[in-house]
This record gives sequence, C-alpha cells and structure tokens, in this order.
Amino acid sequence: MNNDNKLKENQEIIFKELPLPEESDKEMAQNMQLLCDNLELILDNADLVIEKPEFFYIRYSWMIIGAAYIGAKYIPLGVLLKLWRSGSWIGKCPDCGGRSYIINAGGSPLSGSHSFNLVCQTCRDIIYCKQSGNFAELMKQAFDLCDRYSQKQKILRTRGPVFSWSKGLVGESVPDKILEDAVKPVSLETLVNELKKLGQGG
Ligand SMILES: [Zn+2]
Repeated sequence: MNNDNKLKENQEIIFKELPLPEESDKEMAQNMQLLCDNLELILDNADLVIEKPEFFYIRYSWMIIGAAYIGAKYIPLGVLLKLWRSGSWIGKCPDCGGRSYIINAGGSPLSGSHSFNLVCQTCRDIIYCKQSGNFAELMKQAFDLCDRYSQKQKILRTRGPVFSWSKGLVGESVPDKILEDAVKPVSLETLVNELKKLGQGG
C-alpha cells in the first residue's frame, strides 16, 4: 500500500521523533545516578544494547549535544556507546584521573569553548567540566551519528476544519494516522534490570 501517491489536498506526510520521557527533577537525578552506578554493566553489554532497538533508542533530556548557532540533538544511548567505542566522547575525571564517559556537551563551534558532563565509574558521579577549545570535533562526531541513527514516526496528517465565509467551519478534525511507527525504548531502569537478570541467568 503506498499512501504517498494518494494524498488528498488537505493531507501531508510528516516525520516526527518520539517525545522524550517526562522526568521530574527528582526522577532525573535518580536516572542519572542509575547510569553512574551501572555504567560498567552497560559497557560490558554494549553489543546487546546496540543490537536491540528498545535499548539503543533510550533517550533522556540530559543526554544531549548543543551547539550555538546550529541547534541541539538528543543522543540515544546506543549512539553514546558507539561514540565511546570509537574513542571519542571519552575524558579524564578531574577528581580521580580515571577514564570517564561524556554524556552531554554544549558550546560554540566558533570559539571552541564548551562544557560537558562526564560519568566517572570510579567516583560513581557525574562531573561538570569546562574547556576552552576543540569543540568542533566533539560536536561533529555526535551530530553525524545522531543523524545516521535518527528514527522518526511517519505520520499522515489531515488538516482539520477549514473556515469558509459562507459556511463557517467546514470538515471535521481528523486525528493523525501513524503510517510507520518508531521503536519505543524501555526506561534506563528496565534496561539495568534486564542486564542484571542476564548476568544472573548466565
Ligand atoms: Zn573519578
């Protein structure tokens, strides 16, 4: 069935990312801590997380790359794992000197100045850092991978009632119809529980 060819005048196809999970401040802090406490578990199971779309597309508002003049993108967990695996988005913990994993960054590609948060496995904490240069590379790597792995719902949208001077509002409002759905990711909590179960089950 090809809907593209049969669009009516008041219809259009739109592409939309799934909304992010809603988090209260408290839930956000809990989820961040969950990531800190279980980073090693997630890294050990990186292949599985990358393979399973429900795991790959875990997204939160605080996993983000933002660039002045360009915009921002949310980074799925699978993309973070791919960045870390390629050796980018890795830093050094300012507290203990250990290998740490950047989970968000924002800055200016022009001046290069930027800030980021990294997770230290040893300190089990998220640490805020600032740097004066080298933002362009960090930004490009994340933007490229986010674009390559972006997934969107394909939606048929029918425009609602139209105003006519002689007849008033004409036509009924029609709800959006999802033509192709996007994978709904599980929560970080579910991921951690599943990975722990795998570890126990052997
Ligand atoms: Zn540390």
